[in-house]
Amino acid sequence: MKKAQKIILQVLAALAVIILIISISLHKKETSYTQEELLMDTYIKITAYGTDQKVLEEAVTKAFLSIKELEKITNRYYAPGTDEYQNSDICQLNEKAGLEEVKVSADTYEIIKKALYFGELSQGSFNIAIGPVMDLWGFGGNNKKVPEDGLLEEALKLTNLKDIALNEEQKSVFLTKPGMKLDLGGVAKGYGAAKAAEILKTEGIEKALIDAGGNIVVIGEKEPGQSWKIAIQDPSDLKKYFGILKLTDQAAVTSGDYQRYFESEGIRYHHIIDPATGKPGNKGSSVTVVAEDSAIADILSTTLFVLGKEKAVELAAKLNMDGSFGNIEFVFIEKDGSYYVSQGLESKFTLEGNR
Ligand code: AMP
Ligand code: MG
Repeated sequence: MKKAQKIILQVLAALAVIILIISISLHKKETSYTQEELLMDTYIKITAYGTDQKVLEEAVTKAFLSIKELEKITNRYYAPGTDEYQNSDICQLNEKAGLEEVKVSADTYEIIKKALYFGELSQGSFNIAIGPVMDLWGFGGNNKKVPEDGLLEEALKLTNLKDIALNEEQKSVFLTKPGMKLDLGGVAKGYGAAKAAEILKTEGIEKALIDAGGNIVVIGEKEPGQSWKIAIQDPSDLKKYFGILKLTDQAAVTSGDYQRYFESEGIRYHHIIDPATGKPGNKGSSVTVVAEDSAIADILSTTLFVLGKEKAVELAAKLNMDGSFGNIEFVFIEKDGSYYVSQGLESKFTLEGNR
């Protein structure tokens, strides 16, 4: 055999081996890895799909680590005197209210900045300074009770968003009035889920489902050409689904009057406060917001819930006109069970059959 022929044969053989390796790797069976943990006062479950268990496990573990870090800096309920209290940006900010500014981590700063943006846009319906009011209702503790109107009035004086001063250069925040308290409960889970999604993607994950207590993020498609199916709970019967949303590479976050509540003298009081009254918002039963970024979806689910359907439609239209946050869509379920689906979701929403 001539030398040239020999080389050609060798090259062909090498190519055949490469093609074989590629086709084997392409046909590697899909597997998944799931982890579930109680964090941020809720169950967080992440499932990542791929072909390499080790890669999946590492990616999901990293995603959880970032949520844990976020909880450490944003939780406001650590006991004074503990290391956790010392290390929590929000505990420190609340302690130093009216006294001095506090330098916070980049994540805390970003959350506060985003929250204030939407606070202003919604004329205070989204209000992270709602802490003193939440505390009067006892949400976050074991002593939930209906507060007196006079006390609510006093607490509401400490919820003015203009009394939060940001220092962009220093990345510091100052709550200018003593007694002010930040509460990031309306945004932290969504921000955490968004961070977790970013980490999974950086780790090469192309298909995953994150469920952070009703804050859903889907990465990629469920199957080629097939969206994920995400159920919206029926606020009037939690064992049932109200409808199904088909989503790809999106976040869906629900705020509802059934998620955290207590009953007193036959009346149900839930945890989403209308900052105009200091009392639970009463303009709807649940709102599910679909957006690209789950932090935005989380902020907006709370905001649109407080605003009520009419104003929610107006705000979403304004945001979509501007376009800075991608497409914002939502499903609004009224207290009587009637519902509204925004235009962009019409083809992606199916009402549960038996309704
Ligand atoms: P979500 O479940 O995302 O709607 O957020 C509700 C949580 O956000 C509550 O448990 C409080 O911690 C906080 N919160 C309550 N009312 C408001 C409000 N009007 N704006 C911002 N955060 C709020
Ligand atoms: Mg929210």
